[in-house]
Amino acid sequence: MRLDHPDDRGRFGDYGGAFAPETLMPALKELEEAFVAAWADDAFHAELDALLEHYVGRPTPVYHAGRLSEELGIDLYLKREDLAHTGAHKINNTVAQGLLTKRMGKNRVIAETGAGQHGVATATACALFGLDCVVYMGEKDIERQALNVYRMRLLGTEVIPVTTGTGTLKDAVSAALRDWVASVETTHYIIGSVVGPHPFPWMVREFQKVIGEELRSQLDGSPHAPTPDVIVAPVGGGSNAMGIFYSYAGDDGVRLVGVEAAGLGIATGKHGASLGEGSPGVLHGSMTYMLQDDHGQVLEAHSISAGLDYPGVGPEHAHFKDDGLVEYFSVTDDDAVAAFHRLSRTEGIIPALESAHGLAWIIANAEHLEGSVVVLNLSGRGDKDVQQVAALHD
Ligand SMILES: *Cc1c(COP(=O)(O)O)cnc(C)c1O
Repeated sequence: MRLDHPDDRGRFGDYGGAFAPETLMPALKELEEAFVAAWADDAFHAELDALLEHYVGRPTPVYHAGRLSEELGIDLYLKREDLAHTGAHKINNTVAQGLLTKRMGKNRVIAETGAGQHGVATATACALFGLDCVVYMGEKDIERQALNVYRMRLLGTEVIPVTTGTGTLKDAVSAALRDWVASVETTHYIIGSVVGPHPFPWMVREFQKVIGEELRSQLDGSPHAPTPDVIVAPVGGGSNAMGIFYSYAGDDGVRLVGVEAAGLGIATGKHGASLGEGSPGVLHGSMTYMLQDDHGQVLEAHSISAGLDYPGVGPEHAHFKDDGLVEYFSVTDDDAVAAFHRLSRTEGIIPALESAHGLAWIIANAEHLEGSVVVLNLSGRGDKDVQQVAALHD
């Protein structure tokens, strides 16, 4: 069953909730109240809608990929989130949370980032609203993602290296949480996916569900584009997938497919398939499927695609999995890279490696999908991944 709201403990069925330090509970409560009030306020929607149209570039087009459709024997449509400002769906969420930050009377934003994509989207929203912005990033990630670090600095954001632990995303999350505990009166923490403690998974889903709502109205209005049989999206934390799935979830005619990272292959243990291979546990403030060992220790994820390299997933996806509303599969690094090349050559669109995972699933299953109308959420553009893919062939 699709739940419009999590229950009063912030749960989607068995998943979600708010597993956070006592000191953060008032901030989470304040955020929930501010979000509920803003979301019921026409003035907030009017301001957000205007920004989504004129700044972000919504609605993003739905494009019929003609050449690839012919090759695959299906009718393939791409929802072009890659054409949104900054090149991915992440901006839908950061602009909305930036607007909410202003409404709460706070002037400072913090965020954490792994590959830097969420950091750039947050830095962009903060420049737009004139908010002070601090992004925590593991020192190893800072080295690996020099271009995104410079982008954030260009946008006026302070990037703080985190040297504890392994110097990667999970250490940056801890640093951001420590900052928030100390600064919560003036500071909002912008989480970048449908993860974290309540109200984040719900709020971020509400900010991303515009993708699926647009798709519905774009397809309904066109005689050439019938109702989709299948909608496919990559799943890292799960925000672009939740965004395109949500308005279709529970609609019996439409099959929803989420694609996780199988990395080097499920059998190698080096993957990011939290729903496919993980089990329920508490990660980053909520109960969800996660990769963990027999003692409940978080396992490291692996994916060629930074956005899918996460050992957990949003709690509403866990609920959707158990309820059978969405099917989840996984795709290896190699198959994603092959799909990256294929879309580039057949359609002149270089996809993000994350989005290429969704396409790889479609390619692998094309025979069974023959004649179907298939929509891929093209969550982002691949410019950020070109160097990485080029290096594979050296
Ligand atoms: C960050 C990112 C993802 C993964 O995040 P979700 O929250 O699962 O959407 C997918 N695609 C692109 C292009 C991204 O930048």
